[in-house]
Amino acid sequence: MSEAPRTRLFFALWPPVGVRDALAAAAVKAQAQCAGRTTPAAKLHVTLFFVGEIERARLGALQTCAAAVRAERFALDMEVLGYWRHNRIVWAGARQCPPALDSLVSQLTANLALEGIAGEDRRFVPHVTLVRSARCAPKDTSLDAPPWEVPAFTLVESVRAGGGVRYDVLARWPLTPPL
Ligand code: ATP
Ligand code: MG
Repeated sequence: MSEAPRTRLFFALWPPVGVRDALAAAAVKAQAQCAGRTTPAAKLHVTLFFVGEIERARLGALQTCAAAVRAERFALDMEVLGYWRHNRIVWAGARQCPPALDSLVSQLTANLALEGIAGEDRRFVPHVTLVRSARCAPKDTSLDAPPWEVPAFTLVESVRAGGGVRYDVLARWPLTPPL
């Protein structure tokens, strides 16, 4: 069977197991209070840039954009839980966006723009979606997850399969160790 000519893509950060488990536990706790659907543990991530549907033939150009990014490794500590009323999402986030993460997303966005791929107008706010269609904000807004050391970022394909969505990591780019 030939592959579809278009594909749905996004750039993301994937948590290590300890962080993932803490996020998954927070999701279950929030769902008990607010209902909705938890993100399965294996799908927990931070979206850096949502590309959306594009021609598969442009994958190479996209990878060149990512490979040109020069950013240092950083720690992303997930310390807060929040709720966005407009889309009814319970999320986990950091108190501040690390400068290296800001730089990573800015470079990626600028490189992709030169390829004619536009991102969102909104400022990037790093977050992990824990619960969708939640009816309320979680009562406790603090989150105790282990430190998240981020060594790389990834390009992910969002594949519709069996009525759901699967995420396949297509490529990974290491961040540079701090000097
Ligand atoms: P579904 O849409 O079926 O609920 P999903 O949201 O898990 O599944 P995608 O829609 O492919 O899968 O989204 C992949 C990632 O990109 C998710 O983190 C999602 O929040 C984010 N995303 C999706 N659409 C947009 C968008 N228009 N702008 C920014 N981020 C988006
Ligand atoms: Mg979606």
